[in-house]
Amino acid sequence: MARAQPDPDVDRLKEQIARYSVKAYERGLVGGAGGNVSARVPGSEEILITRTGVILGEVTPDDVVPIDPTGRPLDPQGPRPSKEVPFHTVVYRLRPDVNAIIHLHPCYAVVQSLRLADLPLLTVSARLALGPRVPCVPVAYAGTRLLAQYVGSALKEVPDAKVVLLAAHGLNAMAADLATAYALADLTEFTAKQACIADSLQIHLALPPREALPEPDVAGA
Ligand SMILES: [Zn+2]
Repeated sequence: MARAQPDPDVDRLKEQIARYSVKAYERGLVGGAGGNVSARVPGSEEILITRTGVILGEVTPDDVVPIDPTGRPLDPQGPRPSKEVPFHTVVYRLRPDVNAIIHLHPCYAVVQSLRLADLPLLTVSARLALGPRVPCVPVAYAGTRLLAQYVGSALKEVPDAKVVLLAAHGLNAMAADLATAYALADLTEFTAKQACIADSLQIHLALPPREALPEPDVAGA
């Protein structure tokens, strides 16, 4: 099912996928040929995803592959999509609010994932932007159905999760658009770095929920 007419939404999204792929690579959130980025075409079931084997730092719009909701490439003669198509399609199926997914292997987030537990949200900005929870899915090899199944289970357990850690592997940031997904991925890595430093210094502050803190009397201040 090749597309008959050029579609401005598709062209715009391909450009954005390329831009955020390069940004993530240059920011050091992924290395080698790891990571992949996808987006759902507005008003359509079509998904665009980076091709398999591409280095994110070198992605151009031509490296972005259209697939259907089951993960089949729309152009059978074109480049092959990322091998992580299974978990991307699971997320889009379970989360109608998600139109962009950025999957990366950032150093500190991967270290934190080795704890096989939620990412500690140590700061108020992490709590507000990444909360309520950043769950961690068990170890599964890249590109497997098992990994996609774990991601699906995590989203059923935490239906409004914005980021999921993949144990000993990386993270998935999920949002309505690519700019937000990129910001979530970046903040997750920053938060994971802070958690690693706090762990190494053996310091911990239990952050109360926002409602538990008194509102100052601004008028009287
Ligand atoms: Zn990966």
